[in-house]
Amino acid sequence: MITRFAPSPTGPLHLGHAYSALTVWAIAKKHDGTALLRIEDTDSTRARSAFEIGIYDDLDWLGLHWPTPVRRQSDHLAGYAAALESLNARGLLYPCSCSRREILASGATPGAEGLVYPGTCRQRSMATAKPGDAIRLNIAAGLDHIGQLRSFVECGAGKVVEHQVSTKFLLDQIGDPVLKRKDSGDIAYHLACVHDDALQNITHVVRGMDLWSLTPFQVFLQQLMGWKTPQYRHHALVTDADGKRLAKIDRSKALSKYRTEGISPDDIGAMIGLPISSR
Ligand code: GLU
Repeated sequence: MITRFAPSPTGPLHLGHAYSALTVWAIAKKHDGTALLRIEDTDSTRARSAFEIGIYDDLDWLGLHWPTPVRRQSDHLAGYAAALESLNARGLLYPCSCSRREILASGATPGAEGLVYPGTCRQRSMATAKPGDAIRLNIAAGLDHIGQLRSFVECGAGKVVEHQVSTKFLLDQIGDPVLKRKDSGDIAYHLACVHDDALQNITHVVRGMDLWSLTPFQVFLQQLMGWKTPQYRHHALVTDADGKRLAKIDRSKALSKYRTEGISPDDIGAMIGLPISSR
């Protein structure tokens, strides 16, 4: 059993991250497995090494330990480029120059991952790609490449449930997602994430419910790439007193701030309802 905690160093860790990390390590311990730490820093516009250092400090403070060396995605860009090239070789990608404003103006509807791209550039070939273009995955072409869609097992909420990935969900809720970002040329989170889950032989993906709605797409990507699908366990999100989800954008208090105020890891455990002794 191998699981992982895969934060993006785009802000300080907060209580939600502490909940996730403690859950990951507790499950690994229960199954006599291994919990890996992976730094998902492919977004070069937002990832900062100071936040990465903060991740090590905060987890260490919580008493969590992980095998080294830690996989830092920005050190492995060639692997993601090769995965992208394998999709390209099968004619599943196209370049896209649409701005967010153009996509909005085209009447795009919201889906599981923001706006569902209306397919304006879908007829373009990769030979027409210009510097600064995004690269999108043609979902319909991908569907033609595989027969029966996979199902995956979700064991969150104390139940084991098998979910079938559906064509309708992929077409109506995902659309043609960006796998390589416009302007920065950064590899998108999904591709790097499923690439590494496969490479690191992750058997159980334990993470917050906020990523639940994107899981069928990640499973589709695994199927396209011929990678194994791990089991998933999406845990509930820590909420604040108003029942609002804690997230970096909510300017939730950083764990390091609690630490400098003299709050102990045990206090943190009590605040999020996960006794630290459960590790
Ligand atoms: N890096 C992602 C995040 O910080 C998590 C990825 C995952 O657990 O699959 O939101």
